[in-house]
Amino acid sequence: MTTPTYVLAIDQGTTSSRAIVFDHQGQPVASGQLENKQIFPRAGWVEHDPMELWKNVREAVGKALASADISRDQIAAVGITNQRETAVVWDRNTGKPVHNAIVWQDTRTQKICDELARHGGVDRYKNRVGLPLATYFSGPKVAWILDNVKGARAAAEAGDLLFGTTDSWVLWNMTGGAKGGGLHVTDVTNASRTMLMNLDTLDWNEQICADMGIPMSMLPEIKASSQVYGETRAQGLLAGRPIAGILGDQQAATFGQACFARGLGKNTYGTGSFLLINTGREAVRSDNGLLTTVAYQVGSRDPVYALEGSIAVTGSLVQWLRDNLGIIKDAQEVETLALSVKDNGGAYFVPAFSGLFAPHWRPDARGALVGLTRYVNNGHLARAVLEATAFQTADVVQAMNVDSNSELRELKVDGGMTANETLMQFQADILGVDVVRPEVTETTALGAAYAAGIAVGFWEGQRDVESNWKEGARWKPRMKADERDRLLRNWRKAVTKTLDWVD
Ligand code: ADP
Repeated sequence: MTTPTYVLAIDQGTTSSRAIVFDHQGQPVASGQLENKQIFPRAGWVEHDPMELWKNVREAVGKALASADISRDQIAAVGITNQRETAVVWDRNTGKPVHNAIVWQDTRTQKICDELARHGGVDRYKNRVGLPLATYFSGPKVAWILDNVKGARAAAEAGDLLFGTTDSWVLWNMTGGAKGGGLHVTDVTNASRTMLMNLDTLDWNEQICADMGIPMSMLPEIKASSQVYGETRAQGLLAGRPIAGILGDQQAATFGQACFARGLGKNTYGTGSFLLINTGREAVRSDNGLLTTVAYQVGSRDPVYALEGSIAVTGSLVQWLRDNLGIIKDAQEVETLALSVKDNGGAYFVPAFSGLFAPHWRPDARGALVGLTRYVNNGHLARAVLEATAFQTADVVQAMNVDSNSELRELKVDGGMTANETLMQFQADILGVDVVRPEVTETTALGAAYAAGIAVGFWEGQRDVESNWKEGARWKPRMKADERDRLLRNWRKAVTKTLDWVD
C-alpha cells in the first residue's frame, strides 16, 4: 500500500459534474468533467436526471484518475461538494428517484410558498432557519414532489422514500453496495438550505416539516462538514476510501478561499453568483435581503455562520446568449464580443429569469432588456450581459455593508466567469474596491478537498489552507466615481422595470 498523496473532490455542480484530484499544496493535478443535461419541461421549471448526475459523477472520477494514472491507494480521502437546494426524492428499496431532481432555480413551488406565507408572511420561518419563504429552497420542492407524484405521499409516510440534496444522493450511492443504498447523511451547510433546519441547534424542525407535510423519516442525518462519514463501496475505482468532507458549493468555495476570520468573504461567479461573508459564531439575521446560513463546521467544533447574497442568474445569462440567441458559440466569446464596443450603448439587461433573488426577493419579477435604441448591437448586448453580473453583485455588497455595519475592503473571487478579465475589471470599477482572484480558481472543489483532508489528518488544519492560498490576479478600480454612480443609477432604474410582472 502506497502512502496516499492526494485528495479527491467530487463537485456535483449545476452545469457539470466534476472530479478534481489535489496534492498536498492544494494544486490540482487531474480532473474529469461531464456536462449535466438541463431539462426545462415548462417555463420556470428546471430539472436534472438524478441517475445521469450519479453516472456523470462516476465517469468524472474515472476520467480524473485515469488522466494522471492515479490509483485509489493514492487517495487519502474523498470530499463532496454540490449544487445546493436541488432536491432528489428516491425509493430507499430500489434506489430509483420518484421524479427528476428539482433544481434550485426552479420556480414551480411559488404556490406552496404563497400558501405557507399566508400565515406570518414570507419571513415566517426566518428566525428559525435564516431564510425567507422562496422557491429557491429545498423543503417546498420536496412538498411539491409528495403532492404531485402519484403514490409518493403514501410511500413517504410508509418510510420508503428518502430526500436528499445531491451531496446525499451521491453519498448514498457511493457508500451503497450491489444490494442497495448506503449512508443517508448530509452536512450542516446543505441542511441549512432546506428551510427545515434550526440554525442554532442544527437539527430538523418538526413544526416546519409538519407545515410542509414532509415526513421526518425522509430526512438525512445532519453531520459536520469535515468528519469521516464512511467508506466508498459502490465502485471498484475508489472502493475503501474514506469520504470525509461535505460542503454545499458556495460554502466549499468560502472554505477553499480560506475565509476563516469574521468579515472575510468571497464571491463565486458560476451559473449564478453567491457572495458569502463569514460572521463567526454568530448567526446574524439580515434586515436587507441576505440569507443567514451555516458556513462550515469542522468536526465537533462550533459551527461558523455566514451572511449570503444569492444571485440566481449570472453565468447562465451567458449560456442563454449562446443557446437561446445563438450570438456566441461558447462562453469565452462573450468577452470578444463585448470588447467590440466601448460601452453598453445605453442597454441594461436585468436577468430576472427566476424572479430576483438577493437583495430583492421578488418572485414577481421577470427579465428585461431596457434602454434600447437603433444604435444597440450584439456587442452592446454582450456588454450588458456581463455588466448585469457586476451590477447584481454591487447590490448585494451594498446590502452586506449595511447589515454588517462595515465597508467591504476587497473582494475575493472565483468560479467559471472569473476567467473573463473584462468582467473582473468592470466589477472592480463598479464596486470601487480591489477584486482578487487566487492562483487556484477551483476553490469549490478545493474547499471540499480540504474539509476531507483535514478530517483524515492529510492536512493538519485550517492553517494549511491559509498558507496554501496564493494571490493569482488583482484588478484595481479605475473608473471615476461620477461614472460609477451614473451606471448604478441607470441599473437600479432598469431593475424597477422588471417588478410586478407576474401576478
Ligand atoms: P457552476 O459551478 O455553477 O456549474 P462554473 O463555475 O463552472 O459554474 O461556471 C460556468 C458558468 O460560467 C457558465 O454559466 C458559463 O456561461 C460562465 N462562463 C464560463 N466562461 C466564461 C467567460 N469567459 N465569460 C463569461 N462567462 C463565462
